[in-house]
Amino acid sequence: MVDFIGVSRVRELLARRGTARFIEELAAEIEADFLRWDTFEKSPRHATHSSVGVIELMPASDGRLYAFKYVNGHPQNTQAGLLTVTAFGVLADVQTGYPLLLSELTLTTALRTAATSALAAQRMARRDSRVMALIGNGAQAEFQTIAFHHLLGIRELRLYDTDPAATDKLERNLAALDLPHLDVVRCASTAAAVAGADIVTTATADKRNATILTPEMIAPGMHLNAVGGDCPGKTELHRDILLRGDVRVVVEYEPQSRVEGEIQQLDPGYAVTELAAVLAGRAAGRAQPREVTVFDSVGFALEDFSALRYLRRLHQQERGAHAQIDLLPELADPKDLFGLLAAQPHTLRRTAGEAA
Ligand code: NAD
Repeated sequence: MVDFIGVSRVRELLARRGTARFIEELAAEIEADFLRWDTFEKSPRHATHSSVGVIELMPASDGRLYAFKYVNGHPQNTQAGLLTVTAFGVLADVQTGYPLLLSELTLTTALRTAATSALAAQRMARRDSRVMALIGNGAQAEFQTIAFHHLLGIRELRLYDTDPAATDKLERNLAALDLPHLDVVRCASTAAAVAGADIVTTATADKRNATILTPEMIAPGMHLNAVGGDCPGKTELHRDILLRGDVRVVVEYEPQSRVEGEIQQLDPGYAVTELAAVLAGRAAGRAQPREVTVFDSVGFALEDFSALRYLRRLHQQERGAHAQIDLLPELADPKDLFGLLAAQPHTLRRTAGEAA
């Protein structure tokens, strides 16, 4: 039997643990795995593009466990009442190749993305950062807010989305959460939201080279958490921001980010630092208070590997239905796969009949 974690089980685990604590624990798991970066077999994700979106497969392994995620990105989906991003994933045992867990990863992607953003910002943003602008108020927005409120101490959140209904939804959800000491300010434009912010999170969805942030919006000392540009031809920052003399850019996994990140707009020789080096203390996340730092996030398979392992541990430890599914045949004689059919004469007869 294979462990199964559906959407309702993740909701149950989150309700019991609390979303902020879940994100904090997940961030610690992700950090621990980034700290053993060299033990992982890594590759850029496999992307299948269409005119409206992308479907991607994201594998990672540490030689003991193997994980992959299936994830899509379809910015026009919301017009049809569907999510832009959905995902599921598998954790498997390398020794036998057997899957151990099949899990939803849509909610979990939002959680792990927020956890990774906060982890990067803890090393890259100024320590006195209290004001965050959040541009793009869709599915990722609450998770980013909770992570930055809880782990960075954000006390003012400045919102903007081209779709006012998305900001309405975010305001409603944040009011219900009642996060302590958080002022939420609705702004009339990206420029208005960004003015005076210490951290700017962009989580917009548009399948083009957008310029959500332009050079004149950027002030010395800002940290940019650029989450939405994550595909070839899909970016959020004006390239001149990346060409400032005082900018420091951190990416997750350089071979993937060169193709998918904000840095796809620049020469392959443009210098970036990998997050693993920053977390390990081999490189600075920020050297000067007036430096502009950019976390050019695209989402890397290692984050999903950590999330799947963490979810499985909670699933097995915590109260509630520990669901399993019969994804794999269980045989007394592993060479007698056909015996499974013999145990069900009905199926066997039909199969034999078809062959006749
Ligand atoms: P979503 O469709 O739910 O929300 C995106 C929001 O952006 C929408 O409300 C839309 O109105 C808004 N928007 C679009 N253009 C805008 C503009 N010019 N200015 C302001 N707002 C604008 O999508 P989501 O699930 O919240 O994801 C947001 C983005 O993050 C997507 O591009 C997705 O691919 C990306 N993403 C990245 C990671 C990662 O690891 N880096 C993980 C998950 C999602």
